[in-house]
Amino acid sequence: MERNWAGNLTYRAGRILHPESVDELVDVLTGDGPFRVLGTRHSFNDLADTDGTLIATDRLPVQVDVQASPGDIVRFTGAPRYGDLAPILQRHGVALANLASLPHISVAGAVATGTHGSGDGIGSLASAVRGVGFVTAGGEPRSLGRGDAEFAGAVVNLGALGVVTSLELDVEPTYDVAQTVYEAPGWDAILADLDAVTSLGTSVSIFTRWSRTDVADQLWVKQRLPVEADAAERRGAAVERLGARPATQARHPIIGLPADACTAQLGVPGPWFERLPHFRLQFTPSVGEELQSEYLVPRAHAVAALEAVRALAGRIAPLLQVCEVRTVRADDLWLSPAYGADVVGIHFTWLRDEPAVTALLPAIEAALPVTARPHWGKVFTLPGDEVRRRYPRFDDFAALRERFDPEGRFRNAYLDRLGL
Ligand SMILES: Cc1cc2nc3c(=O)[nH]c(=O)nc-3n(C[C@H](O)[C@H](O)[C@H](O)COP(=O)(O)OP(=O)(O)OC[C@H]3O[C@@H](n4cnc5c(N)ncnc54)[C@H](O)[C@@H]3O)c2cc1C
Repeated sequence: MERNWAGNLTYRAGRILHPESVDELVDVLTGDGPFRVLGTRHSFNDLADTDGTLIATDRLPVQVDVQASPGDIVRFTGAPRYGDLAPILQRHGVALANLASLPHISVAGAVATGTHGSGDGIGSLASAVRGVGFVTAGGEPRSLGRGDAEFAGAVVNLGALGVVTSLELDVEPTYDVAQTVYEAPGWDAILADLDAVTSLGTSVSIFTRWSRTDVADQLWVKQRLPVEADAAERRGAAVERLGARPATQARHPIIGLPADACTAQLGVPGPWFERLPHFRLQFTPSVGEELQSEYLVPRAHAVAALEAVRALAGRIAPLLQVCEVRTVRADDLWLSPAYGADVVGIHFTWLRDEPAVTALLPAIEAALPVTARPHWGKVFTLPGDEVRRRYPRFDDFAALRERFDPEGRFRNAYLDRLGL
């Protein structure tokens, strides 16, 4: 039986096909549905599942075309992972603005769910998309680019519009990043000025197990280089105000786990794609045996959201492997959790105990501000109509889905719950 990466979901699909060309894909799509598309299977819920046919994208031929300046674009076909794409970009002297915590995920699957890294000034991975090419439910090709009326609806698409077979992303000249971990920052000081903490570097994450509510476990600061001469001094003072201290050896986000799987730390400079993800491509990212949930709240509500989670620490900690707090810049993509507002993501890596986790989530969801949007690819229990209410352009997306796929061949139980 075929499962997702975390092993918490066995796909119900009657068959999984692996087309090896766009022609083969078109043949599949002109046959009987329903269909869903499968990327690298890193989602934790039934978003990618179907009772019908799963179309795996892993054997579609990958072709990458980098147009460095003038242009600063990468175009590719097929379904590469970020970890496949990054070294090619680096060889051409270009880079992406950000990456998620792991390079193992497919670009198309990450973009489809609004996947993000961290950075006050950096948008979600989908915000780098400038063009998207689909093969739609009827086997027809369809392309949209920035500036087209439907483009902002089609990027974060939940796999509901067809199979993405090509993408164009913004790139920029390559750059180095240095990553430093600080230990035991105080929560009161963090919450007194959250903006000061999340702006300590280009990309900042707070990790904690909520076993204590006075101090968080770690602060990971990824700093794009070069930095101004007095930046280190200013950061040192800010870190001191948090009561934190630099780690003296490499750390895993979960204290106590070996750091071999993690990207280099201790301030050693390195290329963007070997520092921005927390985990290295050659190793299992995160823990492996886990579930994940995440809620993204507008920055204005972030302190209230974190206080709400802190108040539930006693119930959260026994099921939790680690919680991570990140930031994402606002975008205009209709189904992006960062649509219309800079957001703070509050992420939970849980033990793989689905009944216990889904029993606890309603309490967390009730305590969070009503503006919190759940990550599309992770575990949540908020009812579909409530999720829908939290996206001002949701009805526009529903209409777009109808235009792309009038017979609903890409619909599944997950989309039904959302009224799509
Ligand atoms: C260990 C781990 C760490 C993670 N870290 C982060 C993180 O740092 N930040 C974050 O935001 N999320 C994170 N995630 C969540 C992850 O990024 C998302 O679940 C993402 O969708 C995974 O991409 P995938 O290719 O594996 O998608 P899949 O699970 O295979 O599919 C997800 C959705 O994308 C659609 N899809 C996939 N490929 C295509 C295609 N070619 N055309 C159309 N639709 C397609 C599917 O139909 C489905 O709807 C993490 C997940 C794991 C397991």
